[in-house]
Amino acid sequence: MKQTNGKKNYFALKLGMGLFALFLLLSLVSPAKKKILYLNSYHLQYITFNTSKQALDETFASDDFVLDVEFLDSKQFGPEIYEESILRRINTRLRNRGSYDMVLTSDDNALRFVLKNHVNLFGKAPVVFWGLNDLELGRELDNDSLVTGVVEKTSIKKTIEFIRQLQPEVKEVIAYRDSTISGDKDIKIFRALKDSINGLVFSEFNISKYTIAEIEENLKTVPSNAALLKLSSAVCKDRVVNPGELSRLFGKVTPVPIYNLHVHELGLGYVGGYLIDYYGHALQACKMAKEIINGASPSEFKVVFNPPGKYMVDRKVLNRFGLNINRLPKDTELINTPSDEFYIRKDVFIIILGFLIVTLIVLGINTRLVFSKRRLEKRLMTSQENYETLFRDNHSISLIIDPLTGYIIDANNTALKYYGYSLQEIKKLNMTDINALPETDVKERMYQAQKALRQGFVFAHRKKNGEVKDVEVFSGLVHLNDKPYLHSIVVDITDRLKAERQIIEAKQKAEESDNLKSAFLANMSHEIRTPMNSILGFSDLLMKEEIPSEKRNEFVRLIYSNGEHLLTLINDIIDISKIEANQLKVIKKECHINKLMDQLYTEFENQRVNENKQFRLLIDKGTDKPDYKIITDCTRLKQVLINLLSNAFKFTEEGEIEFGYKIREDGMLQFYVKDSGIGIPRSKHEVVFSVFQRVEDSFTKNYDGSGLGLSITKSLIEKLGGQIWLMSEPSEGSRFYFTIPGADEQLNM
Ligand code: ADP
Repeated sequence: MKQTNGKKNYFALKLGMGLFALFLLLSLVSPAKKKILYLNSYHLQYITFNTSKQALDETFASDDFVLDVEFLDSKQFGPEIYEESILRRINTRLRNRGSYDMVLTSDDNALRFVLKNHVNLFGKAPVVFWGLNDLELGRELDNDSLVTGVVEKTSIKKTIEFIRQLQPEVKEVIAYRDSTISGDKDIKIFRALKDSINGLVFSEFNISKYTIAEIEENLKTVPSNAALLKLSSAVCKDRVVNPGELSRLFGKVTPVPIYNLHVHELGLGYVGGYLIDYYGHALQACKMAKEIINGASPSEFKVVFNPPGKYMVDRKVLNRFGLNINRLPKDTELINTPSDEFYIRKDVFIIILGFLIVTLIVLGINTRLVFSKRRLEKRLMTSQENYETLFRDNHSISLIIDPLTGYIIDANNTALKYYGYSLQEIKKLNMTDINALPETDVKERMYQAQKALRQGFVFAHRKKNGEVKDVEVFSGLVHLNDKPYLHSIVVDITDRLKAERQIIEAKQKAEESDNLKSAFLANMSHEIRTPMNSILGFSDLLMKEEIPSEKRNEFVRLIYSNGEHLLTLINDIIDISKIEANQLKVIKKECHINKLMDQLYTEFENQRVNENKQFRLLIDKGTDKPDYKIITDCTRLKQVLINLLSNAFKFTEEGEIEFGYKIREDGMLQFYVKDSGIGIPRSKHEVVFSVFQRVEDSFTKNYDGSGLGLSITKSLIEKLGGQIWLMSEPSEGSRFYFTIPGADEQLNM
């Protein structure tokens, strides 16, 4: 067993030694990795680091290389700080890693640091740089055996020319920069261009002298015909800003475009310009470095002073400022441009969208308008129909009249029915055709109505059937289709006026009758008292005294005569009462006219002789036939003739009184009683037939009479079917005529 264990241990030892030898062999055969230190002037998030990293990754991605990175952060810290800290860190690395095969730097401060500490830190390791702004230093290094690289030479001139081409209206270029080495170098180049470019004002703005707030304030004064040019600028008075932040700050305050110089800044809000391709520089430098690290001598590679740049523009920014794409140099590269087609489509799309929106709005407004118009029209139609019905079927008589011509424009159904015309007929009529007033008066009234001087007019309107009606017309001005018309409402007042007239007549009659009653009483008291006094006086005498028979006879005769007079008066009163009460009856039967006439003649001739009257009494019968007769009330006819003859006797002193009749052709008998007495003035011809009416003269001369005789006579004649009238003048006598229906032919055969 011991022997076996010993064999085993020996075998293990041999295996271990074999493996170690293999390891040693392998480590000798496989080449060692090349160690590279990359020093960046700024920090991890600075934009140039990303660009540089991309070039580094592309060049040194393989396992053959170890890449260490250090940042100076020189925009944040001054050399007194970063130098010490970077030294410490590099020394630590050197202790752990051993020496570096290659040192790479980007931007000025990193290269300066490396050059300063080259021998101490890196011995004979070659150095390759990029992003160097310091041209002089670049030139110094051009012949250096260990150092080479790519100088970052901005083309400010080309960018300014680019600005002039794109914006010919720009009169001023304001360059803003900071007080870093890069900023100072850039502004020197900018100033140097001043003399070679005409017609452009060169202004500067150093952001390192101001705080962010102050910069903001200052930017507000930038004129609209200026362009801003961003040179190297990151360090403000109060803090460090990155390029994107600066662009946003400037864009917020000033409306003018900002041009820049570096490709890696494009897309942050700058227009662009002739740009340095930082990535291209880094890549070029990295390729040089790779060849050197692989055995080539650094002196084989000259410092590159004119690395290519290119025109580049941010299409979005170009559009935002409305800059004309056609003014760009031919070979300009565009970013933020998926394709031109897109923009064309976008433009067209915007136009179409705008058009669509406008169309939609117009359509919407139109539809709304159409709907509201329809609603309005419908409402208007309903309202028109309502008003049409209101007018057409109104129970008042309504007319629409043209106030200028007087023609009837329209009439409602009630008006058509009232006047008896059809609508077509009435529309041809003028108001003067309907109104009974003269034309000038009608027009005058219409003018007054039109001017609203008066509203209610009383007219007489003629209907189609000739009937004339009293109407009251109320007119007012209305506007139809902007033309003035008279709207007239006609009210038939015929019945009302008739009733009014009747009331007035009745009132007058009542007044008259009241007056008559008073007059009647006054008259009666006088008329009755006079004969009564005579009767009573003479009766008293007869009773008291012994008087001779002659006197007594005289007294008796006087009492008789007064009694007779009183009886006549009472009969008259009874007659007039009957007439007033419409109770006077006539009894018509055969009446022998000539007998009646002869009888009257005899009676009145006797009276004339008795009274010793100085006139002659004449009679004239219409026919000699002694039996001539008519049908009438003989008693009443006699009463009429007695009344008239009595009056003639009363008012005639001399001359003659004649009475008679004639048979008229129309069959009427026309009687007359004519005298040569005092006569009656024409003004009294009517009134003498009224109750108690007496002509003044008959009073003054103290004629007897109650004033009832002619009134009764007139009523009797009218009852008998005739009429009475008179012809007379004062002092020329009187002629009373009256008629009664004559004899039937049959009656006198
Ligand atoms: P009277 O009884 O007063 O005569 P009448 O009615 O008969 O009443 O007459 C009315 C009046 O008419 C008289 O008072 C008188 O003034 C006038 N008159 C009537 N007849 C005559 C006549 N023949 N001549 C003149 N006046 C007359």
